[in-house]
Amino acid sequence: METIFDIGRPGKRAFSLPDLDVPGKKLSDLIPSELLRRKPPVLPEVSEGEIARHFTNLSNMNFGVDTVFYPLGSCTMKYNPKINEVIAGLNGFTNIHPYQDESQVQGALELMYELAKWLAEIGGVKKVSLQPAAGAHGELTGMAMIRSYHEHNGNVRSKVIIPDSAHGTNPATAAMLGYKVVQVPSDKYGGVDLSALERLLDEEVAAIFLTNPNTLGIFDKNIVKVNEMVHSVGALSYCDGANLNAILGKSRPGDMGFDVMHFNLHKTFSTPHGGGGPGAGPVGVGEVLEPFLPVPIIEKDESLHAYYLIYDRPLSIGRMRAFYGNFSVLVKAYCYIKSLGREGLDKVSDIAVLNANYVRSKLRDTYTLPYDVPCMHEFVLSADKQKKVGVKATDIAKRLLDFHIHPPTIYFPLIVEEALMIEPTETESLANLDSFVHALKQIAKEVEENPDILREAPHTTPVSRFNEAEAARHPRLRWLPGKADSQDKVA
Ligand SMILES: *Cc1c(COP(=O)(O)O)cnc(C)c1O
Repeated sequence: METIFDIGRPGKRAFSLPDLDVPGKKLSDLIPSELLRRKPPVLPEVSEGEIARHFTNLSNMNFGVDTVFYPLGSCTMKYNPKINEVIAGLNGFTNIHPYQDESQVQGALELMYELAKWLAEIGGVKKVSLQPAAGAHGELTGMAMIRSYHEHNGNVRSKVIIPDSAHGTNPATAAMLGYKVVQVPSDKYGGVDLSALERLLDEEVAAIFLTNPNTLGIFDKNIVKVNEMVHSVGALSYCDGANLNAILGKSRPGDMGFDVMHFNLHKTFSTPHGGGGPGAGPVGVGEVLEPFLPVPIIEKDESLHAYYLIYDRPLSIGRMRAFYGNFSVLVKAYCYIKSLGREGLDKVSDIAVLNANYVRSKLRDTYTLPYDVPCMHEFVLSADKQKKVGVKATDIAKRLLDFHIHPPTIYFPLIVEEALMIEPTETESLANLDSFVHALKQIAKEVEENPDILREAPHTTPVSRFNEAEAARHPRLRWLPGKADSQDKVA
């Protein structure tokens, strides 16, 4: 594909302005000479029509939830209702400023107060802070509260227990807070191995970090027992809420005995988040951690029906980011919850789980199913059979692009060899699920009959394979005038 500079020709313009009509003046009379450019800026010289076509064509090269099926496990890439964008774009939301007086932003405060209340209800927790800007940031906030809690009790602890199936952000978070990460193995059903946990628990353990349902898409039936065991040594338990889509309206981390959790608003409650953002990772806590929540906290004065911010909380861990949270993502989540309501949210998890189990049952004979139990909202296949003939999970993922399907998550969780982690979400039709199943079966057939077609895939995308390590280490992020090979290398 040509860059917009390649398309351009000297002298072409997308607009024209009339000559300066201030009587007797030249532009150089009006602007101090030291502020005038000596050379014109390097801009593409194109017509308006060329601009429109160029960017429309670029946008069509995207693989996104608005164009294709996107079963990226763990990421909950559901369709994003456009009403959310309309509401988040209202002037009353986009034209306010965080420095405005509380009295002038009562609507925004009310929205945040209500959203936090709903999330607390959904998660079964006492209180929610909307501040963290992503799931991983919620983890950092939650773990920082756990650390403060132990320090406050004069009881500094050194270890955090994390299952071998965990998302990479979990051990990273614990390590950032200075904890030693201790791995607990999974049992044959993918849950926490209770006897291994028993051996690991002692007075040095600050917390356990769990995802339930876990990254294999399996609900840990021992969860209440696990949390009781953790509490019995004075440790706390953290729920990574990234998989909440599976249990919305059915069960609540607070009721399972967790002390703190985060919500990935950009997963469970829609919001486009391909390519890394923006997100929001509110954190919810039970009784014991409430005093440690970040400031400010939004409260309501019931008698005046007014909302205000509280900063004076002596045990608070402080601020986790500027201001109050990623506000427009909060508006979208609010809108999503409000439009679905209690019954709608309940249906989300019903259909998400049904869709995942449908696809799983259709593919179980074609690929290896390492944990052969009914799944929640996602499941993990292994391409180990295919690897024996030299085709890897990454080749299968690339080939799916030729079927116009976004690949699933691959090589995660780490405990499954050649993992393909599939999360269809509730927003896909039966026809879409069937064509995904068809594509993966077709690919399995190609593995037998014509494996080369897989190793060289994708064949239909604007760029095929490139050196991923080189692209990560030496990305070319800027176009420089002249030949293509003069592109700026930014290390
Ligand atoms: C997505 C995810 C995270 C991290 O959340 P971000 O919002 O991407 O920072 C943590 N744990 C699990 C299981 C996830 O799927």
